[in-house]
Amino acid sequence: MSYSLIDIGANLAHHSFDDDRDDVLQRAADAGVARIIVTGSSDDSNTRAAALAEANPGILYSTAGVHPHHASDYTEESDALIRSLVQNDVVVAVGECGLDYFRNFSPRDAQLDAFRRQLEIAKESHLPVFLHQRDAHDDFVAVLESALPDLTRAVAHCFTGEGESLHEYIAMGLYVGITGWICDERRGQHLHDIVSVIPDDRLLIETDAPYLLPRTIQPKPKTRRNEPAYLTEVLNTVAEARGQSRAHVAEITTGNAVRFFGLEES
Ligand SMILES: [Zn+2]
Repeated sequence: MSYSLIDIGANLAHHSFDDDRDDVLQRAADAGVARIIVTGSSDDSNTRAAALAEANPGILYSTAGVHPHHASDYTEESDALIRSLVQNDVVVAVGECGLDYFRNFSPRDAQLDAFRRQLEIAKESHLPVFLHQRDAHDDFVAVLESALPDLTRAVAHCFTGEGESLHEYIAMGLYVGITGWICDERRGQHLHDIVSVIPDDRLLIETDAPYLLPRTIQPKPKTRRNEPAYLTEVLNTVAEARGQSRAHVAEITTGNAVRFFGLEES
């Protein structure tokens, strides 16, 4: 069966795709992944993600933002670059941005500052925001809540948290992005148990390629690199965990992504 899936988060500007990006896109199309939102996460990847989207109209779109890992590099130039990129029609969201206290690659005050500034751009540009949060729940909710009334839409990308934060995000009106983390029988079991909490109209699916290769792929790929074609593994596992058909999950997640990013109906 062929779907028209949308991978809402793939880091296709990543250098691991430099040698075979066209093959990767072809395999995605063959797998029924019709459209991909290319994640921007630094000055460099923001520029490259937008260029990829411009070169693949109607198939690739991009986001522009600075990941909390790179928050200490958030300069006036970074801010100006995002502000100029969001004028481009292929750039459909601000982010990824947010807070990550798991690794603390950037100091917390730098993360908070970069996060607030990007939320400001999302407000002014009326674009949705693509959010990253790890081990920073309380600060994340506090900063986001004050911005939410002025934001169009927001997605908690790569949700890996517990039921309590999932309920809280849904009550706040967030969309929730599920990756191949759910395909991991060891650390993803809790997600498997709670994914049905997400209402049909808030669920999105993503690969976060080249990261998070789904562990359900058979036979096991030769490399650890994830790619958008494997979005079907996320679809299958989410459908099974929610007790819904694959066709239903494909239809609702595509409809949600179209609405969320303001894409053309397929
Ligand atoms: Zn992320």
